[in-house]
Amino acid sequence: MHNQNILVWFRNDLRSHDCEILYRASQEVKNSDAQIFPVYCFDPRHFAKTSFGFEKTGAFRAKFLIESVSNLRESLRSLNSDLIVLVGNPEQVLPDLVQQHRISSVFYHLEVTTEEKTVEKNLLSIFKQLNVEFKGFWGSSLIHRDDLPFAISDLPELFTHFRKQVEAHLAIRDTFPTPDRLHPLPKNVDIGGIPDLVSLGLMEMTPCDRAVLMFKGGETNALKRLEHYFWTSDRLQVYKQTRNGMLYADDSSKFSPWLALGCISPRYIYSQIKKYECDRLANDSTYWLIFELLWRDFFRFVTAKYGDRLFYRKGLRNVDIAWRQDWKCFELWQTGNTGFPLVDANMRELAATGFMSNRGRQNVASFLTKNLGIDWRMGAEWFESRLIDYDPCSNWGNWNYIAGIGNDARGFRFFNINKQSQDYDPQGSYVKHWLPELVKLPASKVHKPWQLSADEQKRFNVRLGADYPHPVADLFASAV
Ligand SMILES: Cc1cc2nc3c(=O)[nH]c(=O)nc-3n(C[C@H](O)[C@H](O)[C@H](O)COP(=O)(O)OP(=O)(O)OC[C@H]3O[C@@H](n4cnc5c(N)ncnc54)[C@H](O)[C@@H]3O)c2cc1C
Repeated sequence: MHNQNILVWFRNDLRSHDCEILYRASQEVKNSDAQIFPVYCFDPRHFAKTSFGFEKTGAFRAKFLIESVSNLRESLRSLNSDLIVLVGNPEQVLPDLVQQHRISSVFYHLEVTTEEKTVEKNLLSIFKQLNVEFKGFWGSSLIHRDDLPFAISDLPELFTHFRKQVEAHLAIRDTFPTPDRLHPLPKNVDIGGIPDLVSLGLMEMTPCDRAVLMFKGGETNALKRLEHYFWTSDRLQVYKQTRNGMLYADDSSKFSPWLALGCISPRYIYSQIKKYECDRLANDSTYWLIFELLWRDFFRFVTAKYGDRLFYRKGLRNVDIAWRQDWKCFELWQTGNTGFPLVDANMRELAATGFMSNRGRQNVASFLTKNLGIDWRMGAEWFESRLIDYDPCSNWGNWNYIAGIGNDARGFRFFNINKQSQDYDPQGSYVKHWLPELVKLPASKVHKPWQLSADEQKRFNVRLGADYPHPVADLFASAV
């Protein structure tokens, strides 16, 4: 039996359900008077600037993070414990705490990206000197790393090959139980306050009433969202047909922000899909949500395999493309002023709310890289800054893929924005939602305002070049 104090270091695993580190720590201190110290650190490096000068964590995600940390504190309080909140580099603040409270082990979940792994490496060497055990657990993916039917170094390059191989052996581990009760923290522990946006150097954003969903951080809201999407509104059964929608909250699961911070566990989602398949029905939609979670796993394992290369200009495949760093043009994209309504509506949604659908992301990323020829890393960093659901593996992995430099690239493919607009927004309801200046245009014209005659511009109350921009590029001529 372990009878010494354990620090449970929360990172992107802000939950008490299916949380191996919390569960294992609670088992280790059972029947002893040892303590568990749950800790979260606000690392100032996460609030610095990206290499192109954007806020690394913009206000939408920071707010979601603050809510998630607050909710984790509530969850831990309901288990009789609490959450110690520190502000500072983990390499500095964790060893101090460990020494103050005679902690003998630190449990944490492993990450795969460079910055996070560097922190782990630094802490490992500090704790080694202090003779403190520093124990990492794998807990972020649906499939446990050790259950893959191949070594990470042999990970298939193509998603389809990955999926087929893992599906042939699919064994998803059970979720870990939430501990019934934890030992209270010692009275002399300073639990610290949760910083607000201003103290993190950010400005409060006004909530946008056009947002697809008012995302609120935390495990409680994540579980509520699942309850709503699966059980109350029964939308899981039509997920495959609706998931490409851009306008409505229930078009897709909207689990991504909670998954990114670990407020909900992919294994828990999987167990609920299986329950739904037993209690209600199993169809191509219930399968498809698992399929999408496998995409998430794929990018995580790709990152584990390739490390830093995910962030290189030449991407995973080492392709040398003469990307432009044309800031004027980039700003038109960033602010939703390219003259292509589908691109502009999506970019304005991102700027106003921190969210964009998968369909939108694919189109705007393709437009930036394949039509404007702009350095894909500028786009990826803008997403990093703005997205509520930013996850380095999914973001940089998808950007690699769309920019045509990822391991799974299929030659030069670009999204035909005109066709995509017709297929996914035939009535123009989505673009009108975000571009009110186009609201009077009929569906047949709304996706190609550049074709409006002078007469039509008057009739539909939109002046090209004044109320709405001329297209920044010729869609087909530019796609070379
Ligand atoms: C350029 C680009 C950047 C992206 N950046 C991110 C990011 O930073 N964080 C992020 O979570 N997703 C990212 N995605 C993937 C995807 O767009 C979002 O996961 C999805 O839109 C979230 O909405 P949802 O939860 O309703 O998805 P659903 O359709 O309900 O899917 C369920 C879950 O499956 C996972 N998933 C679905 N599609 C993908 C995918 N293509 N790649 C990886 N995981 C996927 C997500 O965890 C998602 O929550 C990006 C996609 C593109 C094209």
